[in-house]
Amino acid sequence: MEVLVIGGGASGMMAAISAASMGAYVTIYEKENILGKKLLRTGNGRCNLGNRELRTDCYHSRDNELLDGYFYKFDEDDTIRTFRSLGLIVKESHGLFYPFCEQASVVRDVLESNIRGYDITVRTDTTVESVVKKDPDSFVVTAGGVSKEFDRVILSCGSYAGIEKKDRIPSDHDGYAIAYSLGHTIIPVKPSLCALTVREDILKDVAGVRCEAMVNLVKDGAYIGSEYGELQITDHGLSGIPVFQLSHYVGVDPDGEYKLTIDLMPGMNEDEYISLMQGRMLQFQGASVRDFMLGTINSKLAALLIAQAGLKEDDTVSDETEDAIITLVGLIRCFTLSVKGTRDHAHAQCCSGGVPLREVDDDLCSVKTPGLYICGEMLDVDGACGGYNLQWAWTSGYIAGRAAGTY
Ligand SMILES: Cc1cc2nc3c(=O)[nH]c(=O)nc-3n(C[C@H](O)[C@H](O)[C@H](O)COP(=O)(O)OP(=O)(O)OC[C@H]3O[C@@H](n4cnc5c(N)ncnc54)[C@H](O)[C@@H]3O)c2cc1C
Repeated sequence: MEVLVIGGGASGMMAAISAASMGAYVTIYEKENILGKKLLRTGNGRCNLGNRELRTDCYHSRDNELLDGYFYKFDEDDTIRTFRSLGLIVKESHGLFYPFCEQASVVRDVLESNIRGYDITVRTDTTVESVVKKDPDSFVVTAGGVSKEFDRVILSCGSYAGIEKKDRIPSDHDGYAIAYSLGHTIIPVKPSLCALTVREDILKDVAGVRCEAMVNLVKDGAYIGSEYGELQITDHGLSGIPVFQLSHYVGVDPDGEYKLTIDLMPGMNEDEYISLMQGRMLQFQGASVRDFMLGTINSKLAALLIAQAGLKEDDTVSDETEDAIITLVGLIRCFTLSVKGTRDHAHAQCCSGGVPLREVDDDLCSVKTPGLYICGEMLDVDGACGGYNLQWAWTSGYIAGRAAGTY
């Protein structure tokens, strides 16, 4: 049995090892000059390869209810066990899994070393251009103008996330185009886990500020979701984990109007907050608005909100400024920005959309083209920050490889 894995990234390497462990002859075609290039950049070079809290609500998919079945076959404990058997010691820190040595390169090297150990044929600098089903039991795969036959094909070409436009292969050769040519539909692919750009041109002076915040996303006036964590303000807009987590929803409806409302004093209930601010208004009567804000939120953000409330820092807290100060107090809990969009694919950690899960079976075999298997980010599954995307790569790679490698 000859199995071809197209794309030697996270899921493809796992699929190749899994197929070879079932006794198949496995070949990997990888367009880059090394296997697992993207893996090197994961987790800021530390590779957050899984999460103790593996739940399907940490994933987005149009067919979310199907995910349980895949994680039943390969879950977070299997990730630890499998990597240990491959030679990598995994450690857990606050529920997140990392290689013990905290080097993403070692995760890649361990996978590659096992690929060599199984005698898997690896062709790097090889971009697959087309896959054609020849007869019920074989595929003709063309790469670099040369065609070869394989019994089964695993598509693990990943998404555009983290890839500069100039480094992308032409879209008619990418994994989605290959899946489409073999009968699959493609749910529109968009960046997820990325920063958001905003319409307002008021953030330049506060770029670089980081603070704890509750970030809420609203679409056309309807609440979508909230995330708490460290907000980072950038030249382009907003970043940080809470913004990354919400980015999945932005742009799903191209005509939707998305807004972020930011609570810069999260964790305080409304009554507590009102009484605190009423107390400060008395305490700082006759003092400057700057002093009224000093000791509350980040001072650069305070200056921005003072201006947004129509005040000057030297204005005095008094009856005349009371209305504007009430506006300022409201802005601290509900600073609203209009979202222009997500940053582009190159600045995203993953993409949402892709091949619908209902177009593959329990073994991730295509229901459109039997003998074709699909795994990793090419499928319509994208996870939250915290190792969930790599967990999906290991789970789906393992399942697809095992099934494809079984005669
Ligand atoms: C900066 C960054 C940091 C990240 N950090 C984390 C993290 O810490 N934890 C986490 O869980 N997730 C993280 N992710 C997401 C994670 O890396 C991906 O979800 C995961 O790599 C997807 O695996 P994959 O196998 O589907 O795709 P990839 O790993 O992208 O592999 C696809 C491979 O296919 C190759 N390929 C594509 N088309 C062809 C073709 N036509 N012919 C031949 N080869 C082809 C590509 O070159 C690539 O090597 C991060 C992503 C980025 C960009």
